[in-house]
Amino acid sequence: MAVTVLIPTPLRPFVGGRDALEVEGGNVGELLERLTGEHATLKPHLFADDGRLRSFVNVYVNDRDIRQLAQRDTPVKPGDTISIIPSIAGGTAASVGAQRAAPLPSKAAPVLSHEEILRYSRHLILPDVGLDGQKKLKAARVLLVGAGGLGSPAALYLAAAGVGTIGIVDFDVVDKTNLQRQILHGTSTVGTPKLESAAARIHDLNPNVRVEPFETRLTSENALDIIREFDVVADGTDNFPTRYLVNDACVLLDKPNVYGSIFRFEGQASVFYAKRGPCYRCLYSEPPPPGLVPSCAEGGVLGVLPGIIGSIQAMETIKLILGVGEPLIGRLVLFDALKLQFRELKLEKDPDCPVCGRHPTITAPIDYEAFCGIGAEPSYDGAEITAEQLKDEWARNPELLVIDVREPHEHAIAHIDGARLIPLGELPDRLGELDGHREIVTHCHHGSRSLKALEILKAAGFSKVRSLRGGIDAWAVNVDASLPRY
Ligand SMILES: [Zn+2]
Repeated sequence: MAVTVLIPTPLRPFVGGRDALEVEGGNVGELLERLTGEHATLKPHLFADDGRLRSFVNVYVNDRDIRQLAQRDTPVKPGDTISIIPSIAGGTAASVGAQRAAPLPSKAAPVLSHEEILRYSRHLILPDVGLDGQKKLKAARVLLVGAGGLGSPAALYLAAAGVGTIGIVDFDVVDKTNLQRQILHGTSTVGTPKLESAAARIHDLNPNVRVEPFETRLTSENALDIIREFDVVADGTDNFPTRYLVNDACVLLDKPNVYGSIFRFEGQASVFYAKRGPCYRCLYSEPPPPGLVPSCAEGGVLGVLPGIIGSIQAMETIKLILGVGEPLIGRLVLFDALKLQFRELKLEKDPDCPVCGRHPTITAPIDYEAFCGIGAEPSYDGAEITAEQLKDEWARNPELLVIDVREPHEHAIAHIDGARLIPLGELPDRLGELDGHREIVTHCHHGSRSLKALEILKAAGFSKVRSLRGGIDAWAVNVDASLPRY
């Protein structure tokens, strides 16, 4: 009897682009075995070399985590839905259940001016907000980690709602490619620091809001000092080291961490509040190895998606401040934009969680780059070539083979004349087309996939391979200005 296995976006390339498969099996283990038997390239993403299920992948039967059931022996029956939920950078023994609202520690209520009473009138006439609620919002201090895709709607709605102090941690500069989704910034602020751009927009929207800028990367050294001063943290980061750092710092300081992450057309949101439920580490005890899950910069993201997930973060933040409704604690919301479908999974606190469990081993921020395997990446000394060098060498040696490992839809945007398109995913099967005696240069968009291609070629015995540093973008900047950049 077949059950439905839902395949998340990052894993769809390994099952022929399908979003759901019907698979036969009596329990979860049998299903996954059959699934990875039929789709061999999926296997390394689900299972480690020793055969155990990777810990950055969670499997649910309907809305229950199999770790809370019988693990791989969890029985399944026709009509069940199996979800595979990998962590995206971009998100267990007491059952948590539905959480009741509980207010954050109370503070002295500030006074509202006549201007503020008029401005917030639609809140003031809402019984669940009212004058008291509006004063709580004014007294509240919310920290946004990142002023990008998720931070943009969160900052705008929190400012509009009258959150008194918004801290923002960001060290980036507004780039034109940000504007497709980062609605906090505008064409007129391209090239300026995101913090300046954000502060100007927030002050225009609501001059009553105080913006506290932190022009820095959040690090193990500064995270506790920064986060300590805030009531709620909204995590809008796009990388795993910062996700784990924000999580651990919030657990150590007893702060709620309003989580959101996005990939292509899919988003996740939750509230991690270790005092009252699970934390991010209870959900994913370890991050995926670098490179296994593509980033938004590589994989793309629909511009509206962070608008929806970031708005959910703003909503949850406001609910926590007001102490109304049922917060998203102990629940993971999954949003599929293509189907316009929300699903909800139960999250459990892990009694053995290294940071929020009964016997925590993490009692201070750790080295998150090392934890996420970054920095352990191989060195590519001598394996790269610059765009100018490639131009000169190619002119002297027309036999040089340039391989474009991007996807066909990227090739359609811009391509280097004379380069041969072999998408990275097809490369292992198409090695036979290549002449091992020729000099080979791989290239992609920015120079990271081409390094993976280089590794594949080297492992297959190709010795004269280099990768174009900076990819076609560097080529467009330094060699051929007629190419559009993207
Ligand atoms: Zn935990």
